[in-house]
Amino acid sequence: MASEKIVDIAIIGAGPGGMASAIEAKLAGIDNIIVFDKAPHHNDMIHKFYKKGKRVDKDWMGRKAEFEGNVSFEECSKEEYIQQMDDLLASHGVLDKFVYNTEIWNTVKGDDGLFVINVDDDNIVKAKSVIVSVGRMGKPNKPGYKFPKAIRDRLNFNLSKVYNGERVMIVGGGDTAGEYAYGLADLEDMQDCTVTLNYRKAEITRMNPINTEMTLKYLENGKILNKLGVDVESVEADGNPGEERVKVNFTDGTSEVYERVVYALGGTSPVDFLVNSKIDTGRWDEPLMDEKTMETNIPGLYTIGDVVTDQGSIALAFNHASFAINDIVAKQK
Ligand SMILES: Cc1cc2nc3c(=O)[nH]c(=O)nc-3n(C[C@H](O)[C@H](O)[C@H](O)COP(=O)(O)OP(=O)(O)OC[C@H]3O[C@@H](n4cnc5c(N)ncnc54)[C@H](O)[C@@H]3O)c2cc1C
Repeated sequence: MASEKIVDIAIIGAGPGGMASAIEAKLAGIDNIIVFDKAPHHNDMIHKFYKKGKRVDKDWMGRKAEFEGNVSFEECSKEEYIQQMDDLLASHGVLDKFVYNTEIWNTVKGDDGLFVINVDDDNIVKAKSVIVSVGRMGKPNKPGYKFPKAIRDRLNFNLSKVYNGERVMIVGGGDTAGEYAYGLADLEDMQDCTVTLNYRKAEITRMNPINTEMTLKYLENGKILNKLGVDVESVEADGNPGEERVKVNFTDGTSEVYERVVYALGGTSPVDFLVNSKIDTGRWDEPLMDEKTMETNIPGLYTIGDVVTDQGSIALAFNHASFAINDIVAKQK
């Protein structure tokens, strides 16, 4: 049975930034929130990448940090830091707001002004504001075969590099692959693109009902070319040096040439999340936002923590959380 829940704030990522956002929200009197993390617990980066017993510094990498919001920590070992955070979340009564083992691909504002978050096939959360605190460690899933250097720029994980007029093959059988395929076919400034959908299975079984219906309709009317039921064996460069296209070799012995192949095989990198959520990014793929409020080009959508900094720290992520929540509260008035 499909469910839809509306919250005041959805927070994506339960590292220091996401966790502090939950506490700041609670302290500001906003209780109707939800926090998603793809890991089975909060502070996963610290669990995974800090060595056993590592000291957690307040002034990380020589950068002096002052806590500007309500959340802080005492310098201690990695294990004690995690315990401090457990205690903080419990004492602020927000532990039950956290939903783990749930990866979110993007969030896009609907016509009703609410951000839509597809949690899984059956569950949607809609939020008045969203704070994205996904860090910098995420990676998209890649296929097993090699990406030759000459065509690496043409093998992508989102649509941001597609030019009008290109022959594009989307690979994948989930919601994102479907949304990429029919979304690209529909884009007004991409009307000269040819879009092919490739999935190793002949049937579409992993998309939600709307995406299944749209994708099947577009496959039927030819807006999306059908390359279902066959897997990709390898990709190779085709053409003169400097002008190489992607030659895709399929397991049934056929080959096709494309200007671009876009993989939607699950797993997100931070930049994919930003691009998929239509957040403007700068030259180095960093999200563009107001440094005082952390709000992006999309009103109500905030990015904080490592995803916005080249040299982040726990204290900085805590402070960003407080800036974002202060702005959300100010705009409620
Ligand atoms: C080895 C090492 C040592 C460090 N030592 C220190 C130190 O001593 N002191 C200090 O201040 N800083 C230190 N840092 C830096 C500090 O850990 C980071 O700045 C901080 O963790 C950033 O917090 P964040 O919330 O922005 O991101 P992260 O901690 O990276 O958290 C991001 C969270 O988002 C989740 N996530 C990502 N994508 C998705 C998705 N699509 N859907 C759902 N969930 C998602 C991840 O699972 C993760 O839990 C260190 C960093 C490293 C690598």
